[in-house]
Formats: sequence, C-alpha cells, structure tokens
Amino acid sequence: RIAAVDGDADAGVHAFLHVDAEGALEQARASDARRAAGEPASYLDGVPIAVKDVMTTTGLPTTCGSKMLEGWVPPYDSTVVAKLKAAGLPILGKTNMDEFAMGSSTEHSAYGPTRNPWDLTRIPGGSGGGSAAAVAAFEAPLAIGTDTGGSIRQPGAVTGTVGVKPTYGGVSRHGLVALANSLDQAGPVTRTVLDSALLHELIGGHDPLDSTSISEAVPALVDAARQGASGDVSGLRVGVITELRGGEGWQPGVLARFDEALEALVAAGAEVVEVSCPNIVHAIAAYYLILPAECSSNLAKFDAMRYGLRVLPEGVESPSAEAVMRASRDAGFGDEVKRRIILGTYALSSGYYDAYYGQAQKLRTLISRDFTAAFEQVDVLVSPTAPTTAFALGEKLDDPLAMYAGDLATIPANLAGIPGISVPAGLADEDGLPVGFQVLAPALADDRVYRVGAAVE
Ligand code: GLN
Repeated sequence: RIAAVDGDADAGVHAFLHVDAEGALEQARASDARRAAGEPASYLDGVPIAVKDVMTTTGLPTTCGSKMLEGWVPPYDSTVVAKLKAAGLPILGKTNMDEFAMGSSTEHSAYGPTRNPWDLTRIPGGSGGGSAAAVAAFEAPLAIGTDTGGSIRQPGAVTGTVGVKPTYGGVSRHGLVALANSLDQAGPVTRTVLDSALLHELIGGHDPLDSTSISEAVPALVDAARQGASGDVSGLRVGVITELRGGEGWQPGVLARFDEALEALVAAGAEVVEVSCPNIVHAIAAYYLILPAECSSNLAKFDAMRYGLRVLPEGVESPSAEAVMRASRDAGFGDEVKRRIILGTYALSSGYYDAYYGQAQKLRTLISRDFTAAFEQVDVLVSPTAPTTAFALGEKLDDPLAMYAGDLATIPANLAGIPGISVPAGLADEDGLPVGFQVLAPALADDRVYRVGAAVE
C-alpha cells in the first residue's frame, strides 16, 4: 500500500520520510512465530505502526523534518518506540512532519510536504501530517504523533482520523526530540477511538527516564472507549466552550457537523451546557511566546560541533567555531524555525523577560484556572478541533499569523496540560472534507475523552 500511494516529495501522499520494509518484515515474522506458539508479546503483537520522525529509533534515521539532522541515526530508542518493539509492533518507518514540529500543514518539512489523502492538493494538517495521512491513506493502521500545540489533533481533524493528546506527563518524552518541553506530549493516531485506547494503554505510564513523567497509572481507556461506543453517555455533563463556538474564520460546514454531534450526545442522554473560558482567546498569544522561548533554547544544541549538519563557510581557511556554527545553522534551519528562534531569544532577552515571557506565563495560569473552573461544572469540554477543513497547499505558507490562528482550539489544552481527543464528525457540506470534534477533560481523566469520543464517532 505504501508503494502504491506514498509517492515522493513531488507526487503522492508522501507520508513517509523513511520506510523500513525489511526491518518491519523481520519484526512481523518474529511476531508470527510468537503468535503461532500462543505467546503473543501483547494484544497488538504483529500490528504494524508508523512513527513520527521526531521520536528516536535505533538504526533508523530521525530527521525531525530538518536538514539539520539529515542522515542522523540515533544510538537509542525513545521509550515509546522501545515499548512498541517490546509489544511486538513492527515499525513500518518514520513519518513526515513540519521541521522540528513547527507548523500546522507539514509544508515546513525540509523534505517536501505531505498531501492530504482526501484531496492531494490540500494540506494534511501539521506538524504530524505524515502520521495522520499514513493512517488516513491506509498505509498504516496505527501511528504515533506528538502534540505540542495541536499536532496530533488538528491533523486528525483534517484527515478524518482519530488523534489523542494524553495528559501532560502521561506518555514518556524520553527520546522525543523536544520542541517545547513543557508542552510536548506523544500520543496515538488511529482510525477508531478503540484503536487509540489500545495503543495509548500500551505506550502510557511512568518512565524513570523522563523527569516530567507522572506516576499515576494510565486510566482504563479501553473500557471507557467500549462504554462510549455502546452509546452510554447518560448522566455526563458536556460543556460547549463559548469562545470556540464560531465567529470570524469559522467555516459553516464545520459548525454544522459540530452541532449535529452535540445533538447526538443529547439524544444519548448527555446534558449539554455552554461554558465560558474567557482567557482562551489569549492562548495563541501566550503560546507563541512560551513555545519560541523553549524551542530557541532547545535548538541551541545544534551547534555543528557535537552532531548534525556541519557546513564550513566558503573561502575561509581556518574558520572559527562561531563562523562554522553560523554557516551550519543558516543552511540547516528553515524559515519557520529561524523565525521562532528569533522570537524566542528576543522574548528571553534581559530587560524583555518580564514584559513578554513573564506575561505569557501569567496568561497560561489564567487559562488553566478557566479550565479548572469549567470542570467544576462539567465532566468534559467540547469544541470543533479546527475552525476549517483542510486548506490548499501553499494557501497560508506566506502568512504565519493565519497559519497560527488555525490552532486556537487545540493550543489551550497544551498550555493547561490536559488531555484531548479529535474524532471524525463527518464531512463539511461546502467541500466534502473531514471535520473534527474535540473533547477535553481534566488532567488524569483521559478515560473521559475516550468515552465521549467513542460516543461521537
Ligand atoms: N501548529 C503548532 C505550531 O506550529 C503545532 C505544534 C505541535 O503540536 N508540534 O507550533
């Protein structure tokens, strides 16, 4: 299937940056043997999976969609990948992404964009467009994504797949090349809510190698998904977030499908009310200070000295380390990455810290408090995942602010560390493209997003 539809940077879906057919086949044979002996390694033994190219994999390249890491093969597995291998899931390969996970369209990949399987002239979302497209195009039944500001949920919405951002710290970040440490979270990308629950239970749990990993056990997600799928949502209080209920920039077809899903929840016995989270409207502003601050610091390690790309400045006999660093970072990083390094270093500069980073942190606290107050009234909060369906390739590439604005519904959950799911809610009338329905729950209550998600699906 990958050979039939994936193509390359110029044509086809281009979900994969690297396919490991031989390795996957070897893992599949070992899985066959285990299952024949009646000793499967897990309930997903033998089910192949695609992994976003931001998770380290021993023996397989990990580029993060950047020229900076072209050809780099990590010497260790991320904890998520180690768990997948131990559970017997053959790893099909590494999926395309916006460079260092910065973007909402996968167009910022240094290796060419991924295309939406529903319409190859449209974006598959981002930054994890490769994982979502691989699942949507039936190239892989399961995939791993990472969600720092929506990069699992928004691609899920625009490709008609299911994507889950677990509670912050619920899935290990060890071996996830950090974009923004306080926001990053790996999670499942699948075709059904139940598949996500199965995968999430497998990759979740405490990891001593990640100091921000939480010690609480993963809730019973599969049970919750089954409960929801059977239509059992009676007694659940569902809050519609007033601030994400439409207005300028919201596509009518997205809102129509959202309303229908709400009606279905009411019919199934849920109580639906509207809840205001007034500070959510500042989430994008806060995020685009906090995220660049963290990533400018994280990306300092690409100094051309330890690993990664090294470019020698032309015409200089014995260049200084700084000159090599400058030439390498100039050649290795794309425009979006440079934009965020400049933003982040500026916001953290002495004299500006309080005015920008400090203010953003205060907003982050206010947004968290809005959620805490809302969850005193309701069990889950819901909204459309993204304001529009998949836009055309190139449409927002020269307009970073327009690109950022599409994340308004997904970013708040990352700032607050709470879990969220995007489930397919049908196709918009205008363009026949998939619409996503988002469910958010309090930290550690990931089971609730599965229950409600499965009921909507
Ligand atoms: N669109 C977000 C950004 O550009 C997505 C980040 C993410 O979740 N990796 O920062």
